[in-house]
Amino acid sequence: MKLPWQQMKRQSRQVAAPPLQQYRACPSCGVESDLIECTDALCSLKDFQFFTDQQGLNRADHRIVACAHCGLLYTNPCYTPSGFQQLFAKAGLSYGHTAERIVEQVEWVARHFPQACSLLDVGCGGGDLLKALPQTMQRFGLDVDALVLETAAKNALDVVFEVCDFDGLSDLPQTDVITLFHVLEHLANPAQFLKQLRQLAKKGTQLVVEVPVVERAVVEQDRDIVGFFTIQHLTHFSKVSLENMLAASGWQVTHVEAMSGYNGWRVVADPKTLNTSKVAKDKTSLPAANAYLTVWRDNIASVEQRIATLATAPQIMVWGGGQHTEYLALLTGLFKRDAEFVIVDSDPLKQGQTYHGIPVLAPEQVLEAEWLEGEFPIVISTYGGQESVVEILAAKGVDPLRVMTLYDRTQRY
Ligand SMILES: [Zn+2]
Repeated sequence: MKLPWQQMKRQSRQVAAPPLQQYRACPSCGVESDLIECTDALCSLKDFQFFTDQQGLNRADHRIVACAHCGLLYTNPCYTPSGFQQLFAKAGLSYGHTAERIVEQVEWVARHFPQACSLLDVGCGGGDLLKALPQTMQRFGLDVDALVLETAAKNALDVVFEVCDFDGLSDLPQTDVITLFHVLEHLANPAQFLKQLRQLAKKGTQLVVEVPVVERAVVEQDRDIVGFFTIQHLTHFSKVSLENMLAASGWQVTHVEAMSGYNGWRVVADPKTLNTSKVAKDKTSLPAANAYLTVWRDNIASVEQRIATLATAPQIMVWGGGQHTEYLALLTGLFKRDAEFVIVDSDPLKQGQTYHGIPVLAPEQVLEAEWLEGEFPIVISTYGGQESVVEILAAKGVDPLRVMTLYDRTQRY
């Protein structure tokens, strides 16, 4: 048996596809005007494919703009609700509930809010944070993912979970603390949601919001070609634009903190009188975005240099078939060379499918068929998972000279 090598064939986009995206007003100040402050969109990727082939039905354009009125960086067009469901169906929505992060968050909540008796975690996923908090605390979790919540509820009978699409909040109890860890940047209407949380708040409720911010993307010199302006985020905050949005939604920031080791900017806010004044102008976002885009273009160039060393390899195995691979396809020459490919991915939703005509295989399938034997190079196409793939291949005795990593160092988000 030989590997089912294929050249990449990008299908043309279906003209009859239902509208998956729509243009929108600024999600912070609501101004609908000529929104782009610079001559072109800051970052623009045409015809981005979400995961495996679906006859061009899972394609979207990715375009970042700066609001001419309040300075907010955001994705425009934005996904329609049905577009979001369709495009992210195979994404396995993950808000980064890694074990280390949970330990830190629990300790942080205990230190900052020693008197708190109740907590609402928005975007709670499998409820890992809530389960790790003291049982004496009343705990509530909200998430969009009904299936994940169903499992979570079975494992934590003393926690109340509710499905929520973030457009309307049902009858939730008032709590002492509300947490949103890496949630706000994923919402289509973040300011509207913050206002709803403000209405839910009682005197003394503390709101905790953590998001990645554009200034830290520059500081951390993140090498990932997916990078700060990922297609998964709908708003791209700066420290100032986050505070401005909170202020205009009835929240006064009282504490800020940069998380160490990853791009997380954590703020605590108090409820204040909800004024309907305009969102203040943020003049920091656009310069920071441009500084970051310089770093990002360098990152792409450095990945391209490594790919160039593959020379004329006729067959290449790409390990990783997720979003990172689509960025590689759009931004680099990897798949544009005259070569055949196979893709290996551990996600069962992708296995047995094709990605631009290239078969996606399961790691076990490759190992069982002894398909790693041969001379062909193996390119690792994942940022966060690079080191673990290196280990898997080393454990199978693959010659390290055949294994191409695209990054010198990686960091966890
Ligand atoms: Zn605006």
